[in-house]
Amino acid sequence: MDKVLKIGIVGCGAIGKDHCRRIIDTVPGATVVAVSDYVPAAADDLAAKYGIRSFGNDCKGMIADPEVEAVLITSIDPTHHDYVMETLKYEKWCFCEKPLSQNAKDCEDIINRELEIGKRMVQVGFMRRYDRGYAEMKRIIDSGEIGAPLLIKACHRNVSQGPGFKTENGITNVAIHELDICRWLLGDEYEDAQCVRVRQSANSNKGYDNPQVVLLRTKKGCFIDVEVQVADGYGYDIQCEVVCENGTVKLPDPYAVVRRNRPAGWDSVAPAECMPIMTDWKERFIEAYDIEMIKWVESIHAGKLTGPSSWDGYVACVAGDALNASRGTSQFFKVETMEKPELYK
Ligand code: NAP
Repeated sequence: MDKVLKIGIVGCGAIGKDHCRRIIDTVPGATVVAVSDYVPAAADDLAAKYGIRSFGNDCKGMIADPEVEAVLITSIDPTHHDYVMETLKYEKWCFCEKPLSQNAKDCEDIINRELEIGKRMVQVGFMRRYDRGYAEMKRIIDSGEIGAPLLIKACHRNVSQGPGFKTENGITNVAIHELDICRWLLGDEYEDAQCVRVRQSANSNKGYDNPQVVLLRTKKGCFIDVEVQVADGYGYDIQCEVVCENGTVKLPDPYAVVRRNRPAGWDSVAPAECMPIMTDWKERFIEAYDIEMIKWVESIHAGKLTGPSSWDGYVACVAGDALNASRGTSQFFKVETMEKPELYK
């Protein structure tokens, strides 16, 4: 690949730093030329580490800079809509970490702007689509070998949350991954959704619901049940099982080692085995993030984005809005999207 895509990063926190390292160290055909952050020192520190330009807190100045050909948005959720729109003002390529926005209305602005440009310019950070476990599940489901999918049982458990986290963010920030991956696995769209409050964990007395249960029904009648824990106190634990007519497919655990031995003192009862659980999303999906970023850059060089689109970001937010509206009502709320534009078909 001769040409090197010049990327600018908005947001130098956990994933901003990680993607910066990834692009510079492992992604062919791309490099990071500039960084910016709400806190100038965060941008200055990252820029100094790689010898690149810091725009301090002038994020919009960085987006406008002629050297920057593509923008990676890794700032906090409420800022995504404005930075995506700013990037699209200059018709530059954009990778926006999930969620695309915090509600469906804001995603519609992004879709409308892309339609004006007449080309897909935005990819959303739904990296699970690049995880080998999920990809193999999808391959088996799509092959039809185990019949039609009927149900999904999933869970998303996180260790803890930072200050300012709210109950609704359990959907818009956390379960948003499931809202994307379930419709992708099934090749189906949501009909309606309900968020159920259940017995609260002792880890929960921080002003937000934990756990919450997300229920979704699809147009083809599949039923999805996702347990969402945002403070489980033990690990980053992602599980997913799809029940089909003639069998099931299940997401493998990252540490799939099964130990077999005969410990001293063993009699007839096997000792309890303990599987190590990761605590960090960076490690759990490291390969998926790498592939996601490599494919994004490849698709830009080919002139056509192929990864998760603004439409995918929008549908997840429509489902998220329905879930947040349904909380406490004991009712399923319709998941109603606008008509899908030709650009995303
Ligand atoms: P983080 O560590 O808090 O980093 C966010 C950074 O954005 C911080 O440096 C923050 O500065 C900065 N920021 C705040 N307001 C800003 C503004 N107006 N303009 C520019 N920068 C601003 O959070 P993170 O974990 O990296 O997450 C960042 C984004 O990535 C989130 O949207 C999150 O949902 C997404 N994410 C996705 C995945 C995934 O699996 N795909 C995983 C992790 C995160 P302060 O420190 O001063 O607030």
